[in-house]
Amino acid sequence: MAKEHVKSWKVGDCTVSRIVEVWDFQDDINMTMTDATADEVIALEWLHPHYATPDGRQRMNFQGFVVQTPTKVVVVDSCIGAGRDRQFDVFTNLPEGFLEDLESLGISRHDVDIVMCTHLHFDHVGWNTYRDAETGEYRPTFPNARYLFGKTEFEAWKDIRNDGIHHPGHMIECIDPIVALGLADLIEADHVICDELYCEPSHGHTPGHVHVRISSKGEEAVITGDLMHHPMQCAMPERDATFDMDKDAGRASRLRFIEKYTDSGVLVIGAHFAEPTAGHIRLHGEGDRRFDGLGL
Ligand SMILES: [Zn+2]
Repeated sequence: MAKEHVKSWKVGDCTVSRIVEVWDFQDDINMTMTDATADEVIALEWLHPHYATPDGRQRMNFQGFVVQTPTKVVVVDSCIGAGRDRQFDVFTNLPEGFLEDLESLGISRHDVDIVMCTHLHFDHVGWNTYRDAETGEYRPTFPNARYLFGKTEFEAWKDIRNDGIHHPGHMIECIDPIVALGLADLIEADHVICDELYCEPSHGHTPGHVHVRISSKGEEAVITGDLMHHPMQCAMPERDATFDMDKDAGRASRLRFIEKYTDSGVLVIGAHFAEPTAGHIRLHGEGDRRFDGLGL
């Protein structure tokens, strides 16, 4: 995806950057909540124009993040990957570009120390590997990194493989080769990734889903993973989320997150949020909770 979509935010001594593979995806169906209507999207004026279309469709990105701390380079969710055969056309045979975008930040794939996957859906693990053109084998994209997978998450996917929405090709291509080479560490849901980064549990979207906190020099941020997909869910966190494998647990995690981060001053970076991807969850009045994208 084009370099102009790369964007960085400072959090204390850390720099968080966004690398986009699918920009401003819009669909005819309501993607993120099973029962939300176009009228509801249209009625939330603060969603427009950045997060929704005039006719009530949600806008989303598919993107990964890289966090540069004073001592580590950490990829948080490695997005979809190029040239893949996936369930939906929009994710199939994507062009190269992710690694070029990474290099535009001065980071080579050999520099990455840690790859942290918030969960094991196809759009969060894709660049864990690349396809070797000569052998057809899937090789680690980041050969010097430790890859962190939630222990609960990994154990669940070993048995599930297919969640009923996504076919399991990404497990075979993006997880199995990493495990086979001994590059994976199975972590607890409150794992400390490095001095500035740690996990917080938010199970429900998937069995072992976590989100990632960043704390440096008194500045705070959080990368949501898929505990929510769209800013609209800040206004209505209690509603069923289409892609939550356990809808009750997903709702509970989302409500906990909203409770904790509303008016907290913590910069919220939405894994699938369209531009502006980063912002703050704030209460504007009784029952009027919004995501205030940076710069809006
Ligand atoms: Zn996702």
